[in-house]
Amino acid sequence: MTTNYKTESFTCPCCGKEFESKIVTMITHEGQDSDFLPHFVGANPLPFYLAKCSYCNYVGYPEDYSVENSHKYSINPSQIKKILSMPLAKKIPNEAIDFFVAGKIYEEQKKNPYFTGNLYLRGAWCCRLIENRKAEIELQQLAIRFFKLALDKSTISNPDTVSVVTYLVGELYRRLEDRKSAREWFEATVETIIDPEQQWLLELTQKQAELNEYLIN
Ligand SMILES: [Zn+2]
Repeated sequence: MTTNYKTESFTCPCCGKEFESKIVTMITHEGQDSDFLPHFVGANPLPFYLAKCSYCNYVGYPEDYSVENSHKYSINPSQIKKILSMPLAKKIPNEAIDFFVAGKIYEEQKKNPYFTGNLYLRGAWCCRLIENRKAEIELQQLAIRFFKLALDKSTISNPDTVSVVTYLVGELYRRLEDRKSAREWFEATVETIIDPEQQWLLELTQKQAELNEYLIN
C-alpha cells in the first residue's frame, strides 16, 4: 500500500536543456469520486504525473519528452510565456497550474482533444483536493469543451471509452449544476452502452442521473 516515485532526467523539447524531475510510478487508492478522482492513500500524487522543465516551464507527461514526440510536435518558449500570462492562468492555483499549462500546450500542438480534456479534468481534481471551487469550475468547463470536441470529431477509437467520456460530460455538467445538459448527456450515455462489461457504467449513470433529478448539488 504505497505510492512510488522515481527521479528521471529529461531533455526539454521546448528549450533543449536537461533537467531532473520526480515522477510517480505507482499509486494506491481506495475508491473514487463519481468523476473518477481516485481517493489516494497518502499525499496527492497527481502533480507527479507531469514533468516540468525548470528553465522554460514546458510541462508534459514523461512520454511527451520522447524524441519521436518532440520531433512531431514543436513548441517554443515564447508560446509557454504567452500561456502563463493568460488571465485565466492567474486564477489557477499552484497545485493545478501544470495541468492547465500542459492542456494549453496540447491545444497549441493540436493533439487529440480527448487527451487535452483529460489534462483539464486532472487539473480540476487537484483544485477539488484543496477546495478551490472557483478554479475547479474553470477547469471542469475546459474539460467539458475538449471532451465534447473529441466526441464530435470521433477522436476516441475505443467505443467503451466513448461511453465513459459521454458519461463524464454529463457528470461534469451535473457538478456545474447545469441539470438540463447533465440530463441530456446521461441519456446519451445510456444509448452508447452496448458492451455487457460496461454494466458498472450503466449503473453509475443511472445513479448520477437520479441525483441530478432529485437532489440539490
Ligand atoms: Zn525547457
